[in-house]
Amino acid sequence: MNVPYIPGTDSSPDFPLGRFLPPIPAGMISEWCRQNLALGNWVLEPFGFNPLIPIEIAKAGHPILVAANNPIHAFLIRVLASAPQKGELTAALQDLAIAPKGDGRMEPFIRSLYAVKCQDCGRHIDADAFLWHKNEEQPYAVIISCPYCGATGEQSLTPNALDSLTPLPPVQMHMARALNRIADRDDPLRLQVENALNAYLPRPILVLQTIINKLESLRQTPRRRQLLIALILSAADRGNTLWAHPTPRERPRQIVIPSTFKEVNLWKALEDAIQTWQFLDSPVPVWDWDGTFNISTGIVVYQDRVKELLPSLQDVPIKAVVTTIPRPNQAFWTLSALWTGWIWGQTAVTPIRQLLARQRYDWNWHAHALSVVFHSLQDLIQPEGHFCGLIAENEPSFLLAALIGANIAGYRLHSFANSRDDKIAQCIWKPEIKVSNLPEDRLRLDADHKLKSFLQEKGEPASYQQLHTALVAGLAHDCQLAIPVFTENKRQMTSDIQRWLDDILLSSAYLYRIPDKTTSLETGRWWLRDPSAAMTPLIDRIEALVIQHLIEADTTTSENLKTDIYSKFPGLFTPDNRVLFNCLESYGDLIDQERHHWQLRPSEKPAARAADIKMIREQLCQIGQRLGYHILDQDPLLWREAGDTTLEYRFHILSTALLAAHFQEEHTGSTRSIFVVPGSRANLLAYKSQRNPVFAEHLEQNYLVLKFRLVRDLQANPLLTRELFEKQIHVDPPEYRASQLALF
Ligand SMILES: [Zn+2]
Repeated sequence: MNVPYIPGTDSSPDFPLGRFLPPIPAGMISEWCRQNLALGNWVLEPFGFNPLIPIEIAKAGHPILVAANNPIHAFLIRVLASAPQKGELTAALQDLAIAPKGDGRMEPFIRSLYAVKCQDCGRHIDADAFLWHKNEEQPYAVIISCPYCGATGEQSLTPNALDSLTPLPPVQMHMARALNRIADRDDPLRLQVENALNAYLPRPILVLQTIINKLESLRQTPRRRQLLIALILSAADRGNTLWAHPTPRERPRQIVIPSTFKEVNLWKALEDAIQTWQFLDSPVPVWDWDGTFNISTGIVVYQDRVKELLPSLQDVPIKAVVTTIPRPNQAFWTLSALWTGWIWGQTAVTPIRQLLARQRYDWNWHAHALSVVFHSLQDLIQPEGHFCGLIAENEPSFLLAALIGANIAGYRLHSFANSRDDKIAQCIWKPEIKVSNLPEDRLRLDADHKLKSFLQEKGEPASYQQLHTALVAGLAHDCQLAIPVFTENKRQMTSDIQRWLDDILLSSAYLYRIPDKTTSLETGRWWLRDPSAAMTPLIDRIEALVIQHLIEADTTTSENLKTDIYSKFPGLFTPDNRVLFNCLESYGDLIDQERHHWQLRPSEKPAARAADIKMIREQLCQIGQRLGYHILDQDPLLWREAGDTTLEYRFHILSTALLAAHFQEEHTGSTRSIFVVPGSRANLLAYKSQRNPVFAEHLEQNYLVLKFRLVRDLQANPLLTRELFEKQIHVDPPEYRASQLALF
C-alpha cells in the first residue's frame, strides 16, 4: 500500500481566489502523469476545484475532461488556461477605466470613493485600504502609501478625517440589485442570500454593482470582456469582509466576519489582479464538451455535475481520474453563488443553488456526498484505469470522510502516501467488488495489529494524526471502512467510525501516550509498551541513507535527496523536511545556495572519519592510562580499575548520530556509558532528543555525550586528574539550534 510520495517542484501557484482553492504544489500532477499514463491517454477531473490540475495534465500531453459544476471554477480554468498576458489584461481594465460615469469616467469615480488626506503632508491621496472593527459604522484607520511625502502604513482616522471622506451615494438600489441577481423576492433562498451579503460593506457593494452594471453597456470584444470579468471576480473577493487584519493569509471556510478586517481599495484591487491572472506563457486549448472524444490535447470543460455526464458517454476512453478531493467550504460556495449571479445572472446560479440552501456541512454529509460521486465514476473509467485523488489540507476528519466515501462507492485504497509538510495525502483507488465483512471484534483485532505494525516499522513514537492515518489508510486498503456495522446510519457513520478509532487508541493495552502537559487526544505522542519488536528508529535509517547518498553523489540537490529518500521510505513513512534537513546539515555543506546544491563535507569523508576514530581511540587509551585505569581496547572501549572487574567507563566512539543501535546494552550503577561523537553531530543528536521523548529519556538517563574536540583537549591537558576528567565530561551536552538555512 505504501508508495513513494510525489513531491512538487514548486510551491502552490498564487492563483486568483487562491485562498479558496485546495493548495497543490506545482509539478506534482505532471509527475504523477509521467509515472502512470501514456501520452494521449484521456483523463477525467470530476470536480475541477483547482485549475492547476487540468492545466498540468493537458500540458503533460493528455486530453482532459473536467466536470466543473461551479461556474466560478469553470471560469477560472477557462481563463487561466487561455494564458492572459499583461497587455490584454491592462487593456481590458482600461475599457472600464474610461467608460462614462455621470459627468466623468469610471476610474476617477471609483478612486474618489477612497480619497483621504495624508496626515503627514495634508495632500489628497487614494487610500490603499480602510481598517474596520466588526459592527462599527466607520473605519478606525486607513492604510496609505503617500506618493507626495513617502508616508506609508496605518494612519488613524480622526473625526475630522472621517468627515472629509467622500460621502457614499445611496446604496439601496445597488444592494437590491446584488440581491435580486441571485434570488427573487419570493425565492425561499432569499434570506440566505441576504445573510451572505452581510459579508460586504456598502462601499464595495456600490463599487462592484456599478462596475457590473456598466458591463452591460460596455462595448468590448468577447476576449476583453472575459478578462475584465476575471479582474472583477478578483475584486469581488477582495471586496468582502473576510480579510482579517493583520493576519493576511487566512483561508476562510465560513462566512464569519473577523473582529478586525481590511476593506481594500477596489480600484487598486482591479489593478493588482492583473498580476494574478498571468499564469501561463502560452495557452492550453480549452473546448466545451460536445459529447465526443475527438481531440487529442487540451482541456474539455463540462459545466455541470459529473453525474449528469454519465448518460451522454459512449465508448469511454478515459484511462484515469485525477482530482483533488473537495472539502466543504461554505464561504466559497456561498460567495460563488453571489458572484455567479452578479456576473452572469440568476439562470447561471441554478446549478449551484443547492449550495446556498445548505448552510451547514459536516463530515458525515460529506462522506456520503463523495461516495455518490465516486460511485458514478465507476462507469466512466476503464476497468484498468487509475483513480488518483489528492487530499489537500489533510486532517484526520477529511481523510476519514474521503476514504469512507471511496470504500462505500466500491473503491479499495490501492496505494497511499502522505506528506506532513505539504499536508497532502496522495491516494490511488481501484474498483473492488469484494467488501470485507468482518464482525466487529475481529475488526478490532485487525485494527490493533495495524497500529502495532505501524509503530514497529516506524521504530519511534507517533503523533495522533500519524496513527490515525496509518489506521484508516490500512482499513481502507482492506475495504473495511464500508462494512455495515459502521455504515448502517449514514447520517453519522463518519462520527461513529471516528469514535471507534479513538476508543482503540485510548483503550489499547499495548500502547501508551507519552505524558506531556496537554490532555487533548490530538497532541502528544504514542508508543509501544513493549518495543522489543520495533525496528531501528526511522530517523536513524534516514540518517544512514543520507550519509550513503552524500558519499555516492559528488554533489546533490535537496530535490535529488528527497526523491531518493521518498522512494526508500514510502507512503506513511515519508519523512518530514525537518528530519531530512537536520540529517543533511549534519554531514553536508550547502555549496550553492541558489540551486540548493549540497556536498559531503570533506571532514565527513569515510577515510577522514576512520582516521578521526582511530585517533580518538588512541587518545582515550592514553588518557585512561595516565589516569591509572586498565584499558580494554575493544568496541566499546573500556576503562577499568586495575585489578577490579567492575567497569568504570565505557566509550562508544562513533562518527554518526546512530546511537539507538547501542541502547540494548546493560547499565549498572557504577558504569559511565559515553558516546564520543564529532562536534558536527551534536545538533542532530539534540534534534533527535527533542523529537523523540523516549530517545531523549534513554540518552539522558544512561549516557553522556562527548565531542571529539573535548577528548583532544583533555589529552593535551598535562594537569588532568580523575576528578577533572569526571567534571569535564559533564559540561557540554548537545543543545538544539534551529538552522537559518532552508531545505528548499
Ligand atoms: Zn503625504
